[in-house]
Amino acid sequence: MSATAEAHLASLARPDAPPAIVMDKVNKWFGSLHVLRDVTLNVGNGERVVICGPSGSGKSTLIRCINRLEQHQEGRIIVEGNELTDDLRSLDAIRREVGMVFQSFNLFPHLTILENCTLAPIWVRKTPKAEAEALAMSYLERVKIPEQAKKYPGQLSGGQQQRVAIARALCMQPKIMLFDEPTSALDPEMIKEVLDTMVGLADSGMTMVCVTHEMGFARQVADRVVFMDRGEIVESGTPTEMFETPKTDRLRLFLSQIL
Ligand code: ADP
Ligand code: MG
Repeated sequence: MSATAEAHLASLARPDAPPAIVMDKVNKWFGSLHVLRDVTLNVGNGERVVICGPSGSGKSTLIRCINRLEQHQEGRIIVEGNELTDDLRSLDAIRREVGMVFQSFNLFPHLTILENCTLAPIWVRKTPKAEAEALAMSYLERVKIPEQAKKYPGQLSGGQQQRVAIARALCMQPKIMLFDEPTSALDPEMIKEVLDTMVGLADSGMTMVCVTHEMGFARQVADRVVFMDRGEIVESGTPTEMFETPKTDRLRLFLSQIL
């Protein structure tokens, strides 16, 4: 295990690595509700994909299936070469590689910022405490809040808490980061600081799948934008293709509502 943020992020560039994520004709139902319909999506190593679409279109379900917070019923999902099956070892292997950041920051309120960041490395990865703390501090520096390490989440602003949540996920040294609307619970003045952190991460070569409606962010970092509606991937392309020359009425309608 590399002991600094820099060493971890520098290790991400692996030109010969397998695709980060392969989803092949994935279907999922909640009861009789068909929420993912033949979703096929490949994410290359180091690729940045932004997923957008109306509320209820299946965006959260799609990314939650990637680390098995939700279970798909048909099709295949392969993450960093490991297929998601009922085998717990494959699940363990995948959760090791995948970090996730949610809309609500989900920090532990009774633990300090530093303790939030070292909990999983110490208990799950069995990293010695001093090493976990040094690593956590290097990530807190990266997200530009090392001075908050001894405080509790309730003493931080929403934007600061979300940056801690990003640092906490990074402390497990994942190869892939999933973001589910990380800025949509934030006051407008805090959105930029979180997006800036995500841009920095994208620049470091991290494979990222982000559900967001921040189209400026999508233009700046996304290799590909994927538009979902009613459980389907309706259209995908570069940010320019998607925003300048949408092919479907559904995407045109969606863009007219958010831009
Ligand atoms: P999005 O993130 O695009 O808003 P979701 O993936 O959260 O969409 O939801 C897709 C559909 O699945 C919605 O109709 C939602 O109500 C439904 N849904 C999501 N989670 C559950 C659940 N745990 N049980 C039943 N239905 C769910
Ligand atoms: Mg959602």
